Amino acid sequence: MDIEKLDKILEREKQPKFRLDQIRKAIYQEGVASFSEISTLSKDLREVLEKEMGVLSFEVQKVLVAKDGKSMKALLKLHDGNLIEAVLISPIDGIWSACISSQVGCAIGCKFCATGKMGLKRNLTHEEITDQILLWHQYLKSTDYEPKKISNVVYMGMGEPFLNWDNVSESLCVLTDKELFGFGSRSISVSTSGIPEGIEKMADEFPQVNLALSLHFGSDEKRSASMPINRKNNLEALRRALQKYFEKTKRKVFLEYVMLDRVNDSREDADKLIRFVKSIGKLQLLHVNLIRYNSTDSEFRSSSKERTAEFRNYLAENRLSVTIRKSLGEEIQGACGQLAGK
Ligand code: SAH
Ligand code: SF4
Repeated sequence: MDIEKLDKILEREKQPKFRLDQIRKAIYQEGVASFSEISTLSKDLREVLEKEMGVLSFEVQKVLVAKDGKSMKALLKLHDGNLIEAVLISPIDGIWSACISSQVGCAIGCKFCATGKMGLKRNLTHEEITDQILLWHQYLKSTDYEPKKISNVVYMGMGEPFLNWDNVSESLCVLTDKELFGFGSRSISVSTSGIPEGIEKMADEFPQVNLALSLHFGSDEKRSASMPINRKNNLEALRRALQKYFEKTKRKVFLEYVMLDRVNDSREDADKLIRFVKSIGKLQLLHVNLIRYNSTDSEFRSSSKERTAEFRNYLAENRLSVTIRKSLGEEIQGACGQLAGK
């Protein structure tokens, strides 16, 4: 919601100062979807607000729900016609995790990612980022799904958050503002393809927000072949960035590793990963998440369950902290890396 615009309208309408707080509370904390539902406002004011602005900065075109009701995807139309997607998943009963987009498309162009294929259309504003949470809050309120509350927010939708830092950092301020969303920093995670300057800014400005690094490969040769960003910021650069991050924050970092059949899932790949992770130091602060690859129209396939389990066991035998992350949302094409504004 455009709070500045709202403030201006309230001022023009000669409303008392507390009005803004009253409306913010209804929208951000109670999940009210339209001004007309805020019964404490006069009928005239409700009408003015309804006419002049919307609560959300985009139109909801479609919401797809998986059969088990544990994941949903919304297709959102921005004011300029661009489309983005936002996802809500329940990895554990009683927990909702919102997976939000930070850009329309993405400039990084990872070969295995559907968003990467689109290229970058534009950055999202901080409002378009946080409105994705408002939307899910409203959605939970208006349906039978339980609970009504969102527990976690992950920046793992479309886009590279560190290439839109001004808006992403502002969105983090809004999400953690006690008067607005009021999320704890530790319930928010930002995922990056590996931009050292961004990692440094996170450490300085949001040391309590979780950092996830999309590593996926333990050798420069293979990483560069599938993730062009690695030619600019290679593993050595990432190692240094993580070391600095640990010095400043002493917080755990999550290394994402998407399991690609016969591409990065051999014993040799595991050895290279282990070598890289150990070279960073601070083994107790590094956690590897093995992720199932969700099919897109690319040549990549997910490793089998057996190969993934073998890979995990081998990392664990070598003292790495590692888990296989459950994937949700594949059937609605709403899983990581399947988001392409379709
Ligand atoms: N651009 C950021 C955040 C969005 S992508 C980043 O790359 O980290 C979120 C995660 O999904 C990343 O770890 C990404 O590598 C992974 N991913 C991309 N395509 C995927 C796919 N098809 N299946 C599973 N994970 C995928
Ligand atoms: Fe962009 Fe992340 Fe997809 Fe790579 S994986 S193209 S960085 S969204």
